Amino acid sequence: MEPKRDYYEVLEVPRDADAKTIKRAFLKKARKLHPDVCNEPDAEERFKEVNEAYSVLSDDQKRANYDRYGDPAGPAGFGSDYVDVSDIFGGGGFGFGDIFDSFFGGAGRAGQAQRTRGRDMGIRLSITLEEAAAGCRKTVAYTRLAPCEDCGGTGAAEGGRTHACERCHGTGRVVEVQRTIFGQMQTQTTCPVCHGQGQVIDHPCETCDGQGRAPSREKVEVQVPAGVHSGQTITISGKGEAGVRGDASGDLVVSVEVSESSRFERRGDDLYCTVQVDALQAIVGTTVTIDGIMEGERVTVEVPAGCQFGQQVVVERRGMPRMGMIARGNLVAVVQVETPRDLTKKQILDIASIVAERSLEPGDAADAPDDVSPEEREGFSAAAENVAEHFAKGWRAPKNPFGKGRR
Ligand SMILES: [Zn+2]
Ligand SMILES: [Zn+2]
Repeated sequence: MEPKRDYYEVLEVPRDADAKTIKRAFLKKARKLHPDVCNEPDAEERFKEVNEAYSVLSDDQKRANYDRYGDPAGPAGFGSDYVDVSDIFGGGGFGFGDIFDSFFGGAGRAGQAQRTRGRDMGIRLSITLEEAAAGCRKTVAYTRLAPCEDCGGTGAAEGGRTHACERCHGTGRVVEVQRTIFGQMQTQTTCPVCHGQGQVIDHPCETCDGQGRAPSREKVEVQVPAGVHSGQTITISGKGEAGVRGDASGDLVVSVEVSESSRFERRGDDLYCTVQVDALQAIVGTTVTIDGIMEGERVTVEVPAGCQFGQQVVVERRGMPRMGMIARGNLVAVVQVETPRDLTKKQILDIASIVAERSLEPGDAADAPDDVSPEEREGFSAAAENVAEHFAKGWRAPKNPFGKGRR
């Protein structure tokens, strides 16, 4: 692979160029290299290169990192509140291509009224479950057609004027009258001179070609409410595509995606998690303290005596916040019972005696060990030896000291 060209070289701007110069240089190049316009075989590659250079140099943070470290991501990436959204909604969404298509006049084909109001745009924002629980503020970067800074969105260059279209007298429509054998036929069409705008500019702004808007890399703050669910959207009005020559901008629709957590499973506003207790604790009951979903939150789970594997213990109001409310869902702890493997010899013997006691028929206690059949005796001691092997060497398994075992 060829080494990447220097971004400043790609845009042919000096290293100390200001934001405006960079943007102009980019638009000039992009206009020349757009695949719809340029027939050179490597146009698409070069167009992408120019885009990449601009997306870095138009972002203060990335540019600073690029200057210092030669990498837009910097030495350790960005702060956690900064999200670079290059992922624009698929299917009817607005990728880079669409933004340029609108800019290069794809929206204003001849004979068709040009759309002047800006379109809505969609971007995706991915956050963690913890962020969804607490609510968060995110800065997202994206590219849109923004009002042109050089002409203030009017589309007219300095000294240029906007005046009513002479062909249609400012109506945007022209009426054609045809004489036919049936009489006069009138057809109304969009004015071919002003494309239905009713106005023309004698000196269009060079940066935006008279559109009053130009591609721009921008940042927007998104306030995500606590308790948000995946797929919910936050609309930021006026931050979508800018309208033509000062017409209304579309909205930016931010679709929130809450990523899965390794600790909790979310079901509605309830959070499910597992807690481990050992078999002895499950018998007598115990208290387990775990980290909650909120920062610094400790949640106490009361595991009742006689708890079974898979039993659910509900801790009320320790789940996700209900959006727009003070209330919270529940935390459901699913108990997992584990057999302890670190018992001492004495502890095992004590438990074994309980097991044996429970296996005796009432009144059997006095029975002599002679009642045990040779097979039973063998089975018991083999099991015991397995236990012995599992623990430290040298410990001799008890030789059925408890009398008759009952199957
Ligand atoms: Zn302009
Ligand atoms: Zn006209």
